[in-house]
Amino acid sequence: MCKPDAVERGLVGEIIRRIEITGLKFSRIEMRVVDEATAKAHYAEHEGKSFFGELIEFITRSPVVVCEVTGPENTWEIVRKIMGSTNPASAAPGTIRGDLANSISANLVHGSDSAESAARELANFFPSR
Ligand code: ATP
Ligand code: MG
Repeated sequence: MCKPDAVERGLVGEIIRRIEITGLKFSRIEMRVVDEATAKAHYAEHEGKSFFGELIEFITRSPVVVCEVTGPENTWEIVRKIMGSTNPASAAPGTIRGDLANSISANLVHGSDSAESAARELANFFPSR
């Protein structure tokens, strides 16, 4: 997912390009505003944490670009490598967050952290599929 800050800053093309040039395929792309219920389901693992409220407010504040990326079984792992660490302060140069972000809360992208998470998250964002 390209988060609201990525859309606001005009970085969607740059983010997609960095993933697409690895050979992974974008099988679905949709821009939309995420509603609160979908956001809370998406980030259910973080419920109760100090930053949860801020996280939901952030992810629902303006349009995001939800993407399904298709490739080998470990596609999620490749995408997360391209994204870089959660905190841009420790994200390596050459990664999306390392090169383009400076805030842990506005860190431009979300990527599933396992094949199981990817299946769950895609079902949450594309329920009719
Ligand atoms: P994402 O799930 O968005 O891909 P991630 O898997 O790298 O990121 P998570 O630990 O799942 O990181 O945290 C989800 C999101 O919550 C992070 O991307 C970040 O924006 C926010 N977040 C995580 N930790 C903090 C924190 N300590 N303070 C503020 N925001 C945080
Ligand atoms: Mg995560």
